[in-house]
Amino acid sequence: MTQKPLMAANWKMHLSIREAVNFVARLHEAVGTPDDREVLIAPPFTHLWALREAMGAAGYSLAAQNCHWEEKGAFTGEISLPMLQEVGCTYVILGHSERRHIFGESDEWVGLKTAAAFAHGMSPILCVGEKLEEREAGRTEAVLLRQLETGLARVPSERIEKLVVAYEPVWAIGTGKTASPEQAQEAHAFIRGWLAERFQKEIAKNIRILYGGSVKPDNVDALMAQPDIDGALVGGASLDVASFGRIVRFQ
Ligand code: PGA
Repeated sequence: MTQKPLMAANWKMHLSIREAVNFVARLHEAVGTPDDREVLIAPPFTHLWALREAMGAAGYSLAAQNCHWEEKGAFTGEISLPMLQEVGCTYVILGHSERRHIFGESDEWVGLKTAAAFAHGMSPILCVGEKLEEREAGRTEAVLLRQLETGLARVPSERIEKLVVAYEPVWAIGTGKTASPEQAQEAHAFIRGWLAERFQKEIAKNIRILYGGSVKPDNVDALMAQPDIDGALVGGASLDVASFGRIVRFQ
């Protein structure tokens, strides 16, 4: 892995703009600008413009939590990739399980969005992961395979190193139930193996695969010690400066 580990906060629909700006200042006081890991925050859309300067000055990356694949048009309620770039985003989270399961986003849509992110030079954070009943039925790999194949169907292989994959087992998100480091490693190794076959082995080695699902200060070190875990996508614990700061400073 030549890229830095990516420690990402997914704030979902939380915090006011004032709280968000304050959070970034306090996080910077707590962890500074680490040179051996990348810090990323994905706030709600309305906060992006207000955060971009403080984020840039701290050397942190800014992500959106979703996008539309078209550049513009009659799509009420949607945000395009050029709009996100204009407010300083370099990453976009795509196919999060809450988008897939609460809002009914299809694999096909996620694929269109991922391809559009590449076309605009942005890094997609493509989220994949199985539900509890799928794991219990022994279908984890089949689900990951389907989500990877459709999510990356239209992606040009020459730009693939910009890709970030987040393995987020649905049963571990917001539940306090983390996948064990071994369970997570097994899924990550499977994903990397697929990437190596689909693209190139050398490139697949450098694609960051994040783990997400109840990452906390007390489990981050064991997760990050796994060979194929290259970062974390953190929900609940990213809303508290001390917790997220400790996660950023994993050992
Ligand atoms: P969680 O959320 O850390 O609260 O489980 C993770 C995510 O949804 O990205």
